Amino acid sequence: TIAKYSTASAVEDPITPSVKVNYNQLLINGQFVDSVSGKTFPTLDPRTGEVIAEVAEGDARDIDIAVSAARKAFDEGPWPKMTAYERSKIMLRFADLVEKHAEEVAALETWDNGKTYEQSLKIEIPMFVRLFRYYGGWADKIHGLTVPADGSYHVQTLHEPIGVAGQIIPWNFPLVMFAWKVGPALACGNTIVLKTAEQTPLSALLVAKLFHEAGLPEGVLNIVSGYGPTAGAALASHMEVDKLAFTGSTETGKVVLELASKSNLKPVTLELGGKSPFIVCEDADVDKAVEMAHFALFFNQGQCCCAGSRTFVHEKVHDEFVEKARNRAANRVVGDPFLGGIEQGPQVDAEQFKKILKYIKYGIEGGATLEAGGDRFGSKGYYVQPTVFSNVKDDMKIAEDEIFGPVQTILKYKDIDEVIRRANASRYGLAAGVFTQNINTANRLTRSLRVGSVWINCFDVFDAAVPFGGYKMSGHGREKGIYSLSNYLQVKAVVTPLENPAWL
Ligand code: NAD
Repeated sequence: TIAKYSTASAVEDPITPSVKVNYNQLLINGQFVDSVSGKTFPTLDPRTGEVIAEVAEGDARDIDIAVSAARKAFDEGPWPKMTAYERSKIMLRFADLVEKHAEEVAALETWDNGKTYEQSLKIEIPMFVRLFRYYGGWADKIHGLTVPADGSYHVQTLHEPIGVAGQIIPWNFPLVMFAWKVGPALACGNTIVLKTAEQTPLSALLVAKLFHEAGLPEGVLNIVSGYGPTAGAALASHMEVDKLAFTGSTETGKVVLELASKSNLKPVTLELGGKSPFIVCEDADVDKAVEMAHFALFFNQGQCCCAGSRTFVHEKVHDEFVEKARNRAANRVVGDPFLGGIEQGPQVDAEQFKKILKYIKYGIEGGATLEAGGDRFGSKGYYVQPTVFSNVKDDMKIAEDEIFGPVQTILKYKDIDEVIRRANASRYGLAAGVFTQNINTANRLTRSLRVGSVWINCFDVFDAAVPFGGYKMSGHGREKGIYSLSNYLQVKAVVTPLENPAWL
C-alpha cells in the first residue's frame, strides 16, 4: 500500500506575505529603469499561480545598454582602480546591510520561489552574507608571484581583473546563486551584468539596491531581468563581455558555450545539472542514512542541481531502508512556506510541477514500485506530494534524467564494485553522498566516484570556502573558495632585464 498524507488545508488559504515589491525595473548604471521595449512580464506566486508583480523585461537592447555601463565602469570608473581594501569594505558593508534587512529579503525570496521562509531566513541569507564576507576578505589578498626565470630577468605575474563579467543564474537558489557569482567577481575588481531567472527576478533587485546603499559605484553591478533566448543569449554572445558564468541546465549550458565561442571566445564557467548518487553501505546506521538521504533529495523541494537523486542501498539493509524512507516521506510536512514548521513548499512554477508529475507517471509505467506520494498536494498552486519509488532500475527514465522535484528513487545493489560502476554510469558528475562507518569503504568510494563533491555521512554542506562544480556534463570550473577567484582574473607575466644583480 502507498503511504498516506494528512490533508492539505494550509495550502488552500495562503498567508499574505508581509513584504512589498519595491523594485521591479532593470537596474542599470545605478538607476532603476524601464526596458527599452517598455515590456514587462509577470512573476508568479508558486503557492497560487497568481501574479506577484509585473517586472521590466530586458532584451538584447537592454543587455547592450547594461554592458556599456559595465564597460565604462570598468574602463573609466573607480571600482578596479580603488584600493582592494576599499572594495573589501564596501562588500563587508553590503553583507551587514543584507543581514539588517534579512526578514524582508527572505520574505521576498520565499514569495517568488516557494521555498520555506525558515530556509530563506535561517539557511540562505546566512549563506549569502557569509559568502560576501568571505570574498570581501579575499579582495585585499589577491596578488601575483615573483617567478625565478632563467637568465638575468625580474619576472612577476600580475593578477588583474578580467573585465566585464556576464552572469546568468537559475531560479532554484536566486540569492545563493547571486552570491556565488557576484562575490568573487567583485572581489577581483570586475564589473558585472547579471541576468536573473525569469521565474525569480525579485530578490536580486532588492539586494543590488542595498549594494548601492553600501557604496558600490554606479555601473559596477547591473541587473537585467528577462528571458533566456532574448536577454540571456544577448549576454552570452556580447562582444564586450569578457567572461561568462552560467548556472542552469546542461542543454542551455551547451547553447551559451556555443554563443560565447561564436562571438569573442570569452571564457565560460558552467554549473549544470546532476543525477547524484547517494550510496548507503551495508554497515550504515539505517535511521541516520534514511534521514540524510531524505534531506539529500527533498531539500528545497528537490530542486537542487546536486540532489542525491539516485539512492543506492545495499541489499542487506535495503528492505528496512525502504520501509523507513517511505514513512519519512509520508511524514514530511508540506504546506504554505510562510508557516512555521513547514518542510516543503510548492515547486517554482507550473512547468516544473507538470514535468515532475510526468516523471512520476514514467516511474509507475516503467514498473518501479510507488511507495509514497505520486500526485499533487492539495488543489491549489504547485505543491507535489513527497514521492518515493523503490525497485528502480538504472535504465528507467526516473533513474537517468534530472527530475528536479521531490521524487526519491531507490536502487538496490550487492557490492562496492557494482555500485561504483553504476554510480559512475551517468552523463553527470556533480556530487555524491556516501553513508558508511568504514573508513576504507569511504576512501575507496571517494576516490572512485567521478564527481566534483563527495559528502561522507553528510550532504549539501556549502561552506563559502569549499569549491563546488562538476565533472563530465555537470560543468566546467569551480565556484566558491579560492578556486572561484581564478575565474575572474587574468594573469599577466611582466619581464624586466636585471643589470648586474647581486643575485638572481
Ligand atoms: P535553464 O538552463 O533553463 O535556465 C537557467 C538560466 O539560463 C535562466 O536564467 C534562463 O533564463 C537562462 N537561459 C535559458 N535559455 C537561455 C539561452 N538560450 N541563452 C542564455 N540564457 C538562457 O535552467 P532552469 O530549468 O531554469 O534551472 C534548472 C537547472 O539548473 C537544472 O538542470 C539544475 O540542475 C541546474 N542548476 C545547476 C546548478 C549548479 O550549480 N550546477 C545550480 C542550480 C541549478
